[in-house]
Amino acid sequence: MHINDAVFLEDLCPKFRLRQWRKSIHRFTGKSCIYCGKASESIDHVIPRSQGGLSTTENCVPACLSCNGDKSDENALYWYRRQKFYDPRRAMAIRAWLDGDLRLALRLLQWANPNSQIKKNNEKDRSEYKAA
Ligand SMILES: [Zn+2]
Repeated sequence: MHINDAVFLEDLCPKFRLRQWRKSIHRFTGKSCIYCGKASESIDHVIPRSQGGLSTTENCVPACLSCNGDKSDENALYWYRRQKFYDPRRAMAIRAWLDGDLRLALRLLQWANPNSQIKKNNEKDRSEYKAA
């Protein structure tokens, strides 16, 4: 488990730290949007900065550009509830993420989308490579 990587990177220089931190956020979900499951291309603030949300791992989730743009300055939990792709398991995952319980969040995301590449990413790639 490398779930606490972001914490240790605090000690490194700010630019490197920011880049690695962003990467680690995407890596948690296997580069999929926490809201809809599409490819994550951006980092979204669950509680927007305009409402006092911080740029911490707890408040920053991987999101596709479509969700990020549509959500804009809204609180993610309220916004998400109105979406067509709303899934209560994902809503619970977002809440767990916000609470800093990334392990629980990832388990809920896996449950919501069993075919996703969360965690299993490397294993799957390797077996496909062998089969080819
Ligand atoms: Zn999305």
